[in-house]
Amino acid sequence: MNKLTIKILIGLFLGAALGLTMPAVYQEGFDWLNQYVLDPAGSIFLRLIMMVVVPLVFLSLVVGVSDLGSPKQLGRMGMKTIAFFLATSAISLTLGIAAALVIQPGTPNLLGEGVAEEYQPPEAVPVMDTLVNIIPENPIQAMANMEMLQIIAFAIFVGLAMAVLGDKVTTVKSFFTQANDIMMKIVTFVMGFAPIGAFALIASALGEAGWGAVGDLLAYMLTVVGVLFFHMFVVYSLIVWFLGRMNPLTFFKGFAPAITMAFSLSSSNAVLPLSMKSAQENLGVSKQVSGFVQPLGATINMDGTGIMQAVATVFIAQVYGQDLSLSAMLVIVLTATLASIGTAGVPGVGMIMLAMVLASVGLPAEAIGLIIGVDRILDMMRTSVNITGDAVLAVIVDRSEKKRGAIDENGNATEAS
Ligand code: ASP
Repeated sequence: MNKLTIKILIGLFLGAALGLTMPAVYQEGFDWLNQYVLDPAGSIFLRLIMMVVVPLVFLSLVVGVSDLGSPKQLGRMGMKTIAFFLATSAISLTLGIAAALVIQPGTPNLLGEGVAEEYQPPEAVPVMDTLVNIIPENPIQAMANMEMLQIIAFAIFVGLAMAVLGDKVTTVKSFFTQANDIMMKIVTFVMGFAPIGAFALIASALGEAGWGAVGDLLAYMLTVVGVLFFHMFVVYSLIVWFLGRMNPLTFFKGFAPAITMAFSLSSSNAVLPLSMKSAQENLGVSKQVSGFVQPLGATINMDGTGIMQAVATVFIAQVYGQDLSLSAMLVIVLTATLASIGTAGVPGVGMIMLAMVLASVGLPAEAIGLIIGVDRILDMMRTSVNITGDAVLAVIVDRSEKKRGAIDENGNATEAS
């Protein structure tokens, strides 16, 4: 394990120990510490990395696309990316549904009547709007509002135009390339604070989490966690091994800094700079592939969130005493996959997607109130799975592009434009 991972793990461990024990023995002291030290320190760290997300995604995608050998290569990588995302989403959702059906974590009226009714479900965006909204009306506004898909769409257009213009825009190209290097350097600086950030974020999150609800929801939580582990270490290992031709141990070792950080950030977007850095520097993924696949994946590919949604939906159906038909299960898979396309990877967004899934199978969205109390804890774990899925794909696409000779071993395009 590299030094950074070990330091982040120590930060996580100490933070978890503090957050889990201190509120129980000295609640006022913890509240004070949280308000004046942990929360501000965690927020500063989070802001430091959020600061580079938009410029980094934009620049790396522009540089990556403009470096592609041909628009054909972009189309091919795009198809592979989408096909993989759909396939792994289907696997994760099916695993989640199957586990929840076998384990049966929900019993009717588990938490008593009325608990769910207190929850106000968030509003979900219709799928068609999501698709139309991919094209930004104003790219600057898209960046200001951190609309990832819009930023990605604009960056692809800029990169393509630059690829077509070729030598006529070498100045702009070196400007973007150097600006991209600068952003990556900032990520390296900021990562120096990662252990402290991880400590503060995890202590604050675990100290504030509602542990009171854990008792009744233990079976639900363990089902989600069990499937997350299986997906992360069995499904991804097999994919990396067979399709990426990489030893899963090498993969997990190299990607560990991002996995541990995702745990405390609970946001695929926030961890993106570190995910890209780990994939490029430790897993040998070329900048082009990493710059294309990982930002896209952070927004549209969320296997961990899919697992939570699948287990939660079956759990809620069980609590409400309803049987889910086979077609209802297919609807769950379809809706959850579509819902993930438009939702950015930020903390807690899985609950908004869950509202859509529940509505699609006729369950009340208010039922989210049953599980929201423990969601903060599950969010940490599923975010780690979400970003690992994106890195797995980056490894596979990189390998297959290198194998076709579209990128050489140094990551340079070899196809003619
Ligand atoms: N926090 C998750 C992510 O950023 C999304 C979720 O709430 O499930 O990937």
